[in-house]
Amino acid sequence: MKGKMKAQVFYAAEKMKLEEIPIPEVTDIDVLVKIKNVGICGSDISYYYGLSPVGTATGKGPIVLGHEFTGEVVEVGKVPQAMGLYKPGDRVVVNPVQNCNACLPCAKGQTHLCENLNVPGVTVNGAFAEYCVSRYTGLFKLPGNVSYASGAFTEPFACVVNAIRKLDIEPGDFVAIFGPGAMGMMMTQLCKSVGAGKVALIGAANDDWRLEQGKKFGAAYIFNVTEKNSKYYTPDLKKSLSDITGGHLADRAIAPTSANAAFEQAVEITGNCGIIVHFGLPNGDDVFKIPALSFHTMDKQIRSAWLAPLSWGTAIKAIEEGLVKVEPILTGTYPLEKTEEAIKLLKTNPGKQLKIQIQVSK
Ligand SMILES: [Zn+2]
Ligand SMILES: [Zn+2]
Repeated sequence: MKGKMKAQVFYAAEKMKLEEIPIPEVTDIDVLVKIKNVGICGSDISYYYGLSPVGTATGKGPIVLGHEFTGEVVEVGKVPQAMGLYKPGDRVVVNPVQNCNACLPCAKGQTHLCENLNVPGVTVNGAFAEYCVSRYTGLFKLPGNVSYASGAFTEPFACVVNAIRKLDIEPGDFVAIFGPGAMGMMMTQLCKSVGAGKVALIGAANDDWRLEQGKKFGAAYIFNVTEKNSKYYTPDLKKSLSDITGGHLADRAIAPTSANAAFEQAVEITGNCGIIVHFGLPNGDDVFKIPALSFHTMDKQIRSAWLAPLSWGTAIKAIEEGLVKVEPILTGTYPLEKTEEAIKLLKTNPGKQLKIQIQVSK
């Protein structure tokens, strides 16, 4: 499709401009998508503020960010056309982590560590724009009962599916989740639906409103570990969890936050044979400090959960079946023109926000 489109072009830290740029060209293996809803991810915020480099060859802009999106197919490349996969008008959700299926990591199922990754919104232009191209292998049809807004939760929720698998929850396990954001809300729900016993949701600073939302999603306990005026404040989380669990502490812990201190605390408050999953994207110079002796003699395990390999089928089904409620996690919807404003709000005043989306078209 020839012509121009509006796009939010990211240049460098805190520099993003709404511009008219050419509609991207569709190669043989691509599909052109007219963007509907795009979620703002924690990583978009990190990129915008220059806290972590974007995925381009130089680590710098210009690039159009935005990778959590749904849309409508408008043009189909030769290969998917020959295969009869898509036609204009199809409602789709895009898995932005697009692997090549032709390298050794791909052959081992490590599709997220593919040597030729193509990631709209991270390595190539993404979805804070009117149109975006996706490789045909990254597309999925949106179930009929899933709205464009709900569908745009599939990418973050697929990461949640992958992370909760890594937690290896046993029936009845006590799970501690650090970070009452959109991810924490989805994790709370999924932990419960895969058999966790009690879930404790832990926040800091002015997180109280978000912690209270967590109760609606199934958290049995909520704690604020830094704000002394909070009614959920605990000066000693380990002791509080010890009291609740009869001294056993948490069986599992996960930290959907980029705060390094939260991850260290997650390790501290797990009990014997605890499994701790690292989830939030760290800053470039973060280092963990973990007491080695107790880690060893309590036989704990630390795992990371990076991206969402082999998790999309499960994520789409779980959203379609209503196993996770995503609509109530959406706390704001902005037009494309206000993308920067929305990113800044999430960074500077997230107290009453969970997920914010950009609705590019209806
Ligand atoms: Zn994301
Ligand atoms: Zn590959």
